[in-house]
Amino acid sequence: MALMRIDEMLATSTDPVFSFEFFPPKTPQGERNLLAAVTALRELEPGFVSVTKTGASAQAQTIELVRRIRADHGIEAAAHFTCAGATRDQLRASLDELRATGLENVLALRGDPPNGETSFAATAGGLTHASELVALVTSEYPFCTVAACYPESHPEAPDADADMAHLRTKVDAGVHVLITNLFFANDAYFAFVRRARDAGIEVPIVPGIMPITNADQIKRFTSVCGATIPPGLLDALDVRAGDAEAVADLGVAYATLQCAELLAAGAPGIHFYTLNRSPATRAIVSALRLSRPWQAAPR
Ligand code: FAD
Repeated sequence: MALMRIDEMLATSTDPVFSFEFFPPKTPQGERNLLAAVTALRELEPGFVSVTKTGASAQAQTIELVRRIRADHGIEAAAHFTCAGATRDQLRASLDELRATGLENVLALRGDPPNGETSFAATAGGLTHASELVALVTSEYPFCTVAACYPESHPEAPDADADMAHLRTKVDAGVHVLITNLFFANDAYFAFVRRARDAGIEVPIVPGIMPITNADQIKRFTSVCGATIPPGLLDALDVRAGDAEAVADLGVAYATLQCAELLAAGAPGIHFYTLNRSPATRAIVSALRLSRPWQAAPR
């Protein structure tokens, strides 16, 4: 797919847009793993990849990785940007740097509280909510601005209605595309999209899918990010406890069925949380491309 803004890609692509999320590696071995995953997944011709920002002071690392993936692999790439640990001026400096690299897509986030802390505290001179970052980006830069949303509500939100109202404020600040938190029950996504449309949110809402590769890890992730594992899936994971290969096989099969149903219902694409590994995502996207469930989608 050509290098372009993500909103334009979604508007013009005849097939769903598949995208892959990576995180910046911390070790030389991690870097080799990431490059191997990018190389393997490049063959699947993703619409774009995105690179997370981990830690309060890691924005430069994300930008450099995104620049390299785009330049060396010819894949469109989006940099995750968070409010965490940065003043407005530091955010502007990072956005200027991103602009200088020729990048066109930004994923604007508040960021998680630092390890061990339960609530997010804004940096002095910085921002408190992602909506403020979206406003800063869209008022001063020409980027396509992507943001996060939560089909099962953000864990800090008092209730789903409050979370939806905050999402509407964020989208009104200039969001072009939303990507969801990971989820395992498609009904949660379908109901969320209906509620978002009722609330006047019209931008594409791309489902974010994490293929399960490790049972303990997914239980840890879901406990912090506000996603639930349906009881039947939880039972199936528990039955396979201690058999890593069986868990990974189940993860691929489950995510393939989940994506097929989403695409058949008209989802605009799938954003895969790859955890810097390629085999699961590769198997799922390959099966989807062969079976083309989106051809059954309502037009
Ligand atoms: P917000 O949109 O600001 O929402 C956070 C909470 O504040 C919600 O409960 C919301 O309801 C509430 N809220 C919003 N506005 C208001 C208001 N005006 N008044 C009161 N409450 C309000 N984290 C990272 O650290 N790095 C990453 O790279 C990263 N990538 C991600 C990618 C995706 C696709 C997703 C879904 C999440 C990602 N995260 C990342 C996690 C994210 O930073 C956390 O979920 C964080 O807790 C919330 O970020 P947000 O941008 O959704 O925040």
